[in-house]
Amino acid sequence: IIDVAGLWTTFGKTVVHEDLNLQVEQGEVVALVGGSGSGKTTLLRQMLGLETPTRGTVTIFGDNLQEADSARLQQMRNRWGMLFQHGALFSALTTFDNVAQPMRELRTLPEDLIRDAVLLKLQMVGLTPADALKMPSDLSGGMVKRVALARALALEPELLFLDEPTAGLDPSLADSFVALIASLREAMQLTVVMVTHDLDTLLALSTRIAVLADKHLIAYGSAQEVIAVPHPFIEQFFLGGRG
Ligand code: ATP
Repeated sequence: IIDVAGLWTTFGKTVVHEDLNLQVEQGEVVALVGGSGSGKTTLLRQMLGLETPTRGTVTIFGDNLQEADSARLQQMRNRWGMLFQHGALFSALTTFDNVAQPMRELRTLPEDLIRDAVLLKLQMVGLTPADALKMPSDLSGGMVKRVALARALALEPELLFLDEPTAGLDPSLADSFVALIASLREAMQLTVVMVTHDLDTLLALSTRIAVLADKHLIAYGSAQEVIAVPHPFIEQFFLGGRG
């Protein structure tokens, strides 16, 4: 359902991606990993149509993002959920309004339906109606992530993009957040693409791992397959500090 074909990215003289090809199938959880500056976030942004590749195409559900106008792109994005590392919530809005915001933007749903849907989404991520009234500043880091996830799921997406989902969470909160994502993915039959530096997150969630290094996709497969590829980044990432 996602097809990245012949993708090149350059910023000035810096080549970030050189002829990248990557397919994501329905129901997969693909993790993008790679060293700092290897172009993971840029690739994620290209899959979201937020950035245009220098060359090559990104096709999602058969639609070429580069050919879509902004109205079409917005329509497509309404079928995707996104959870970004930074700026996850609007600080001036309550939890409820943060989750309601994508539904209200559609301008087609009556407020009573929105209310039921928001409370259901909050319940799905383990939050209560009392939490719905709180401002982001009154929430713990783990709760902020849950609200952001509830918002990402507000429009019942088929596709979920996660940028460093567990960054900033302590290990036990990270574990429970990963477990939550895993259960929602199954319940909602989501296809997920995520960028992560965290080996535990990656091993717990991903069906395939895409490793970016030296401007290329140097490995793409299960953890076992990827670990078998000889490359300094892979050795350091998977085996570093683990004996
Ligand atoms: P990190 O793990 O550090 O977040 P990353 O793999 O996500 O890294 P990107 O953020 O995609 O890497 O950046 C890849 C390279 O492209 C970096 O060298 C970065 O400086 C450069 N880059 C990204 N966006 C731009 C931009 N808008 N203009 C110029 N250079 C950019």
